[in-house]
Amino acid sequence: MTSRIKKLAPEEAQKISAGEVVERPANIVKELIENSIDAGATHVTIYIEDGGKQLIRIVDNGYGMSEQDAQRCFEHHATSKLTSVNDLQTINTFGFRGEALSSIASVSNVTLITKQKEAAIGTQVTLEGSKNIEVTSAPCTVGTDITIRNLFYNVPARKKFLKTRDTEMRRIANLVHALCLNHINIDFSFFCDGKRLINCPIAHSLSARITQLKNSQYVTNLLPIETTETRGNIRITGMISNHYFFRYDRNSIFFFVNNRWIKNQHLSRALLRGYLNVTPPARFPAAYIFITLDSTDVDINIHPRKEEVTFLHSRTVENALTQAVKKCLEDNLSAHIAPQPQQNFQPIFQAHSTSPITLENNVTHKTEQAFPTPQEFMSASPTNINRPTHTSTLSAPQTFLQPLVKQEIIIEEKKESTFKLLGQLNKTYIIIEKEEGMFVVDQHAAQERILYELFSKRFNDLPTIQLLFPQTITLTKDEISLVEPHLGIFKKSGIEVELFSETQLTVHTTPVHIKHISFEELIRESISWIKEYHTLDSSDFFKAVNEKLHAQMACKAAVKAGGSLDEKQMIQLLNDLEKADNRFTCPHGRPTGWLLSTHDIEKKFKRKT
Ligand code: ADP
Ligand code: MG
Repeated sequence: MTSRIKKLAPEEAQKISAGEVVERPANIVKELIENSIDAGATHVTIYIEDGGKQLIRIVDNGYGMSEQDAQRCFEHHATSKLTSVNDLQTINTFGFRGEALSSIASVSNVTLITKQKEAAIGTQVTLEGSKNIEVTSAPCTVGTDITIRNLFYNVPARKKFLKTRDTEMRRIANLVHALCLNHINIDFSFFCDGKRLINCPIAHSLSARITQLKNSQYVTNLLPIETTETRGNIRITGMISNHYFFRYDRNSIFFFVNNRWIKNQHLSRALLRGYLNVTPPARFPAAYIFITLDSTDVDINIHPRKEEVTFLHSRTVENALTQAVKKCLEDNLSAHIAPQPQQNFQPIFQAHSTSPITLENNVTHKTEQAFPTPQEFMSASPTNINRPTHTSTLSAPQTFLQPLVKQEIIIEEKKESTFKLLGQLNKTYIIIEKEEGMFVVDQHAAQERILYELFSKRFNDLPTIQLLFPQTITLTKDEISLVEPHLGIFKKSGIEVELFSETQLTVHTTPVHIKHISFEELIRESISWIKEYHTLDSSDFFKAVNEKLHAQMACKAAVKAGGSLDEKQMIQLLNDLEKADNRFTCPHGRPTGWLLSTHDIEKKFKRKT
């Protein structure tokens, strides 16, 4: 029989922060399953009763323990996995402090039945609060079967802190989910009060495992994500939900770092930043993210239960994640909208030689067809036109937009922009004919995107107007104190806001595009973003609030669904959209257009199969 357990030298043991291993039933379940995984198990069955308070039992088919180890494993700092603190840097197993079993045994009643392959018979060890050890022989199969009963029976103060059966159960279920995701090559079964909740035979892919845990419908809403960041040797893989699938909480977000399930606020925020303007308020994506990087670049030992990590280059990891998410979502939409991959990055609205409407270059970029119309500018009765980077006061309305369209004119002149406009549907959708079929554009979503890109790229060069009557906004003192330090963000986007009294702000200047909007609403929304992002550092905070602000400005300024557009306005909109970055979606993630391919139409009419 092989004896694996060695005692840590006391001084080595001292160096390791003892921490609190056993606080909740879920912590125990985690330690025990990790022991099974470390023991090479391929089958792990978990039984829980009363949220773990009455019973936790883990049965595995790992290599088991010798009779001697079965007794020693409950001693303080008994471990077969580590002999020196230096090993902590490179350790690959999950448990590594030799603390779990001794801590668990000191606050519960434990029965351990275990057998090694080469042993003729197994060993059964019974403990009561680490005492009254009874050791007997037990006929059993290879592996370990450990049962924890009456948790905290001898520490009433701790027992009081346990949450309800359901709460403890949810934590355990969440943990088992995470372990299932992380170890697809292990067959897991999970029973709760006699009912089987999880049945996961060995799976050959992450998506197969998620199907076992959820269902096949759920998986159709997930997209594979993958990226490598050579700086720092970082690799990110996994699956994330698409644009249309959201959860009401964060419970479907899982992070694994070097194969360990971890929680990390910064990573969560980085993930959500990738979904910025995609996720509706108070909704969350589903995400299964696996990050691998050099073990010297990550510290997993900061948390006594090894649930948190710190990265040496946290920014690099977070940025890589945000960018990977953004790209994954964008690629997926492009693929949907332009089904042929080679056309993904070509203009949506391609020249169509037989089209009856030919846009001459000088027609499309005439300023009066841009949104908003010069008539709208005129009706705003501006007393003054502000343009931060231009000192001269502009007087002719059609010149207001010139700096905005200049660049577009150059692009415009390079190509012959012709296509066939079929009309407007429901005063909401613009229908056009393309070579590949019929294209339906959501006019509001399209204009939102156009304006968003405009606001984001030229926010310090937006034509603004001075309001004749400044808008007064009344807020609470708390709200004022939250928003006041950030008034500069509004100013940078052309909205000049001043503190008027302890509870009032006044808006003096606005970009022409949003002069009609309710600034009260916009400021109130901004307060919620400021609250949401206040923990970010200043440059990330600025970026996040700015993005939200521009999305909201674009949304409020964009032509609403239900607005009729004349032919020229539609054409202008389509041309502007074609030139906009990220043109496949509006800033909230809805698609700006859909292609109904000629092939699909022909299939519907049974002309083609
Ligand atoms: P650690 O996992 O940090 O070494 P534990 O207290 O969790 O400390 O376990 C102590 C030792 O008991 C382990 O190192 C291992 O040798 C043995 N052990 C615990 N659980 C199992 C198991 N399921 N199968 C085989 N050996 C186990
Ligand atoms: Mg362990």
